[in-house]
Amino acid sequence: MVTHPLSQASHSESARLPVEIRQTRMLIDGQWVEAASGKTFETVNPATGEVITQVAEGDREDVDRAVKAARRAFETGPWPRMDARERGKYLYRLADLMERQIDELAALETLDNGKPIADSRHIDLPLAIDCYRYYAGWADKLEGKTVPVRGAYFTYTRHEPVGVVGQIIPWNFPLLMQAWKWGPALAAGCTVVLKPAEQTPLSALRVAELALEAGIPDGVINVVPGFGPTAGAAIAEHMDIDKVAFTGSTEVGKLIMQAAGRSNLKRVTLELGGKSPNIVFADSDLDAAVEGAFFGLFFNQGQCCCAGSRLFVEERVYDEFLERIVHRTGRQVVGDPFDPKTTQGPQVSQEQFDKIMAYIESGKAQGGRLLCGGQRVGERGYFIAPTVFAEVRDDMTIAQEEIFGPVMSVIPFKDVDEVIARGNRTLYGLAAAVWTRDIGKAHRLAAELKAGTVWINCYDVFDAAAPFGGFKMSGIGRELGSYAMNNYIEVKTVTVAL
Ligand code: ADP
Repeated sequence: MVTHPLSQASHSESARLPVEIRQTRMLIDGQWVEAASGKTFETVNPATGEVITQVAEGDREDVDRAVKAARRAFETGPWPRMDARERGKYLYRLADLMERQIDELAALETLDNGKPIADSRHIDLPLAIDCYRYYAGWADKLEGKTVPVRGAYFTYTRHEPVGVVGQIIPWNFPLLMQAWKWGPALAAGCTVVLKPAEQTPLSALRVAELALEAGIPDGVINVVPGFGPTAGAAIAEHMDIDKVAFTGSTEVGKLIMQAAGRSNLKRVTLELGGKSPNIVFADSDLDAAVEGAFFGLFFNQGQCCCAGSRLFVEERVYDEFLERIVHRTGRQVVGDPFDPKTTQGPQVSQEQFDKIMAYIESGKAQGGRLLCGGQRVGERGYFIAPTVFAEVRDDMTIAQEEIFGPVMSVIPFKDVDEVIARGNRTLYGLAAAVWTRDIGKAHRLAAELKAGTVWINCYDVFDAAAPFGGFKMSGIGRELGSYAMNNYIEVKTVTVAL
């Protein structure tokens, strides 16, 4: 890792960037500080492969300082003690400030992640802002219960904030994942230490700056950028973090849970990988199904944990569907993510690019019929042509492992029972979708598919009010909606002798 003065790096480099980089240091206890080690790491523009800037590289000592600040803010600060409705107001204010800076934040997200500016501006940002507003409204609605116990006692429950929360997020939706984590945690009265992904640290730092501007007290939010095995592991193992919320790969999810078990049994919620079945019946509105299948896989360069990456299509319409999906895929505009007409940007990193290209090779080697794509686009940056494989079998690697890229696998099926069984034959269970005009069949599949979300005649429809999370190895717990509030509270039973 390179070590050099941060201020210089950001000044000289900002001049040629489409957006000013205001923050590259970490936020601890309301102060912008460099890493204790003085180390920094590079964050790269995936459209060019060039370094954007250097960012402070947090490690164990920084996490420890952040946890101390968060603990102090939790035990003695105003945050958990203020009127709950007042706490909500800070979140509304943060949402308002994000709206004020929406173009800047969208540009920052596109620069660091590579997603098309139209998506950042019109999908990620509005969803993130909406999420803060939704949870602002929850702050004063954490009601306990009165409990009818035997005897001359009065028993009630209090819903109290769980305490200091560690949050580790991925690079595919940086601002949105931060909102899913901060919204309910802050509404509940918790204090947080957030580690953004090493590939995309910039937007989290800017939102943290806006949170300070909104007046959220020092120590309530802390942001420690850095790598997984160092800063991330320090969060998972920390003895004074009460709860860890993680979004990322199933592999790392297991490590987080093990670390929690080895340390202080901190509460764990995990939102992990998927290999979601998207099932198209012959009796569906095929135009809508093609569009849904396309969006469900290629949205966000295919970098979605809930991507419809096993596309089952009923045999009777299989050939027609292939023709249409290839035609639709041909209209994808791959290129400069800052061009408003672009619909597909680069993959986030060289590492992801290489991984996806290897999956494409395995698809070819194992007998998949490549209908389009399969190669890189351009000479620099991590662009991959949208790729469609037909005749994919369930046992092929591309039908089993999460690719996290613009690679569609179209798999034929014959009937309902068969496709339910095959759809469920995976270690994952994050999402599923069904396309049909038969309402009974749709609901039968909704009941029988083992997935945390089932979309019927739509895909990737998200709302802050609708819970999201996985069955099986796709995770533990639910984010969003009222369910997410449970992740951040402890229930206390109080009994009074009458
Ligand atoms: P991906 O493979 O999509 O990059 P990861 O699960 O590796 O997903 O990363 C998601 C988040 O988890 C990132 O913030 C990353 O830094 C963090 N992370 C990676 N390894 C660990 C680890 N051993 N302990 C804690 N966090 C980790």
